[in-house]
Amino acid sequence: MTATQDATPEAARRHRVVVIGSGFGGLFGTKHLRRSDVEVTMIAKTTHHLFQPLLYQVATGILSEGEIAPPTREVLSGQDNATVLLGEVTDIDLEERRVSFHVLGRETVAEYDSLIVAAGAGQSYFGNDHFAEFAPGMKSIDDALELRGRIFGAFEMAELAARRGEEVDHLLTFVVVGAGPTGVEMAGQIAELAHRTLRRDFRHINTRQARVLLVDAAPQVLPPFGAKLGEKTKKELEDLGVEVMLGAMVTDVDERGLEMSYKDGRTVRVEAITKIWAAGVQGSPLGKTLSEQTGAPLDRAGRISVNPDLTLPGHPEVFVVGDMIALDNLPGVAQVAIQGAKYAAKEIDGRLKGKPAQKPFKYFDKGSMATISRFRAVAMVGKLRLTGFIAWLMWLAVHLFYITGFKNRVTAVLHWFVSFLGRGRSERTATEQQIFGRSALARLQRGASDLVSEPGEYDDLRRSADSQRREELEAQAAEEARLTDAGERGTKVGDRA
Ligand SMILES: Cc1cc2nc3c(=O)[nH]c(=O)nc-3n(C[C@H](O)[C@H](O)[C@H](O)COP(=O)(O)OP(=O)(O)OC[C@H]3O[C@@H](n4cnc5c(N)ncnc54)[C@H](O)[C@@H]3O)c2cc1C
Repeated sequence: MTATQDATPEAARRHRVVVIGSGFGGLFGTKHLRRSDVEVTMIAKTTHHLFQPLLYQVATGILSEGEIAPPTREVLSGQDNATVLLGEVTDIDLEERRVSFHVLGRETVAEYDSLIVAAGAGQSYFGNDHFAEFAPGMKSIDDALELRGRIFGAFEMAELAARRGEEVDHLLTFVVVGAGPTGVEMAGQIAELAHRTLRRDFRHINTRQARVLLVDAAPQVLPPFGAKLGEKTKKELEDLGVEVMLGAMVTDVDERGLEMSYKDGRTVRVEAITKIWAAGVQGSPLGKTLSEQTGAPLDRAGRISVNPDLTLPGHPEVFVVGDMIALDNLPGVAQVAIQGAKYAAKEIDGRLKGKPAQKPFKYFDKGSMATISRFRAVAMVGKLRLTGFIAWLMWLAVHLFYITGFKNRVTAVLHWFVSFLGRGRSERTATEQQIFGRSALARLQRGASDLVSEPGEYDDLRRSADSQRREELEAQAAEEARLTDAGERGTKVGDRA
C-alpha cells in the first residue's frame, strides 16, 4: 500500500523540506529551520534522537536508554512547521524529488523541494558480516541493551558454572575489538564493572579475576588522538587491568571465542563468550542510491563525496551531512553532522529569502575527548592535550551540555553520582528478549513485517476465525440444550438407551 503527500499546486504551498534521520544531523537541521517559511518532514527509522557517545554507559548499566534517546516527537513538539514520521527510507528518486519509506511493510512516499540526508553510518565488519551474530556492534539502543544483557549475563553464567565446579575462564573473558574511543570507553567500563562494581555481588566467582581484552590491528590506541595521548591511554587502561593487544587482526569470530593473527604470522585464539565489535563504520546504504543517480563516488567505507557546499553534483536542492559524507577527510563525529546540518538549513532559508550562497562549508574543530574510566579521560582541544581528572571534568561538562532535555540532564547527573562516587549501577536490568529477541526476529523471513499482516489480509483472517468460532459456539449450545432436553445430564454415557 502506498500513500503520497498532498497534491497542492507548487505556488499555493510552502517550500517542503524532507529531512532523513533524527540523529545529530537530522535533528539539528530540522531545529535550524524552525523560523523558516518551510514545512519540514523528518523521516527516521527510530522514534528517538540517539546520543551515541553515551551508548557504552547504557551497555554497562550506568544510564537508562531513555536518558540518551528522548522521543524526537517530544523534542520537536514546539516546532509547528515540523512533522515527524517513522519509517525506513528505502529509495530516493532525485529526478521526481520523492522519498519512499516504509514501516513493517507499509510504504509511504514524501515529496520534497529541498532534501537533507543525514542517515549516518552503521557498523562495518570489513566483509565478515557473520561476525555480527557473535560480536554485536554499538550503534543503536538495541545494540546497547543486547550488550548489557550479554555482559551481565556472562557473570551470571560464570556463577552457575563455578557452583558446579566447571571451567569459568571463557565466561569471564570479555573482548572488545577496536581501540578507538568507543572501544577504549567500553573496555574501561567493563574493567570497572568487574573490579569494582560487582566484586561483592557473587559468591562462587571472583569478578576481579575477569579478563578484559582490547584488541586492534593498528599499532596504537586512539590513533586520531596522536601517539602521545595514545600511549598514555594504553598505560591507564593497563593500570585498570585491561590487556591491550595491538597489531592483532581479528580473523574469525564464533560463539565461543575469536582468532587473531599478527604481522609475523602468529595466530592466537581467545576463548570468550562476550565479544564486542567497536571497529569500523560503513556509510548508510542510501549513499549508494545517491551515488548511482549522481555519479558522486563512494569511498571504501561507503561514504559519498559531496560538493564543497554539501550538495550533490547536479542537485543543488539535495544536501548530505554527517557520517554519510566523505569531504576533506572530515572525521565521523557529532560536530561535523551538527555544523553541516546547520549550514544546509541556513542555505535553504537563504535561498528562499533571495540571499547569495554561503561560502563553502568549513568545519570548526571544537576538540575530541574519550573517557577511560571514572575520573580519567583524554582530551584534545586545539593544541591543548589533557589527560586525567581535568580532562574527565571537561568530558562531563560537554556531555551534559549536549544531552537533549532538562529531565535527562538531571537524571544522568544522579546516575553518574551513583556510579562514579559510589559503586552502584542503577540500570542493570537485562531481559531475555534483549539478548535473544533480535536473533529470533532475524530468523523470520521478512523480519518484524512477518508479525503484522496487511490490513486487508488481517481482516479476512479475523472474519474467517470469527465465523469458525461462531459455528463452534452454536454447535456447543445446541448440544447443551439437547443434553438437557433428552435428560441425559448426570447419566453415564454407557447407560444411555
Ligand atoms: C558508540 C559511539 C560513540 C561515539 N562517540 C562520539 C563522541 O564521543 N564524540 C563525537 O563527536 N562523536 C561520537 N560518535 C560519532 C557520532 O555519534 C556521529 O558522528 C554522529 O551521530 C553522526 O551524526 P549523523 O546525523 O550523521 O548520524 P546519526 O546520528 O547516526 O543519525 C542517523 C539517523 O538516520 C536514521 N536512519 C538511518 N538510516 C535510515 C533510513 N534508511 N531511513 C530513515 N532513517 C534512517 C537513524 O535512525 C538516525 O536517526 C560516536 C558514535 C558511536 C556509534
